[in-house]
Amino acid sequence: MTSLLSVDPAAVFDSGRLIAMPTETVYGLAAPINRPDLVARIFELKGRPASNPLIVHVGSTEQARGCVREWPALAQHLAERFWPGPLTLVLPKANHISDVITAGQGTVALRMPDHPVALAILRVSPAPLVAPSANLFTRLSPTRAEDVSAVFDSADVEVVDGGPCRVGIESTIIGLDPATKTLRWLRPGLISQADIRAEMPADWRLELPPAGQEAAPDAPGQMREHYRPIKSLTVVVSERPASAIFASATGEEASWVVLPLPEDAAAAARQLYQALRQADQADGERIGLRLPPGCRDDPAWEGVLNRLAKAATDWRDECDPVS
Ligand code: AMP
Ligand code: MG
Repeated sequence: MTSLLSVDPAAVFDSGRLIAMPTETVYGLAAPINRPDLVARIFELKGRPASNPLIVHVGSTEQARGCVREWPALAQHLAERFWPGPLTLVLPKANHISDVITAGQGTVALRMPDHPVALAILRVSPAPLVAPSANLFTRLSPTRAEDVSAVFDSADVEVVDGGPCRVGIESTIIGLDPATKTLRWLRPGLISQADIRAEMPADWRLELPPAGQEAAPDAPGQMREHYRPIKSLTVVVSERPASAIFASATGEEASWVVLPLPEDAAAAARQLYQALRQADQADGERIGLRLPPGCRDDPAWEGVLNRLAKAATDWRDECDPVS
């Protein structure tokens, strides 16, 4: 048992409870892959549809290799380059990985989180851990321990506090098809397409979803409504210099609650869900989010724009929501 841990993961799982663990992306609701009862409990507590597969979190590359049928040299290379870190690799699954975890697919998603507490939990856990975001299905992902405690009962979930999440949005996901040497861009995150291309051998190719479309066919969890605040959210790409979030009951500028959002994409990602949470809790009926001009052409914003495309009820370009 490491001093980073205030809990004994095996004892928590033995008692039939889940662990909410901090990672660098968001807090995850964790259960060992070899505990079907606890894996089922994740779907139940989150209200997550069975068609939405879970990411398996590992504490070592060796553990990842134990979950797959094939581990191509490129998977080893990407793991060495980006793990621990916010990159999920989807590969043909080993037989012992259950259909419940993969939502019936022949592939499994794998990631080694870059957080000392998550790694400490993984090191002492009886098996790799599935760990989807520790929130209710379609709602905002949690980036602080108190976001999790506000939703789940301590009788069901042991929340381990590891401070605020450094990345703040979910991992980049890529699918590796060793048969066709194809990499599929399934979900954008902090690790960009350019980061991945820089590591690809010449005989592999990166397949992007058709412009303007979700990566839906290969990523069943990528439904449109996701990452949602409770209030309606209007996103605008605004010429106004400051990006800001406001909530307003009357629509009058004087009544807005304005929360500054950084113009830097990584910093904005780190604060995004907290800002939406604050706006949800403020007075008023709706939320507006201003993004800086040029964000659509800047690859660093891809992850944030992807989450907002699912979270927003309305998008307006070049027009302020209240002007
Ligand atoms: P999260 O809800 O952030 O834990 O991420 C889980 C997401 O990973 C799912 O919603 C899917 O989009 C993706 N995913 C997990 N397993 C697979 C898989 N076998 N194939 C494709 N995408 C997957
Ligand atoms: Mg989630």
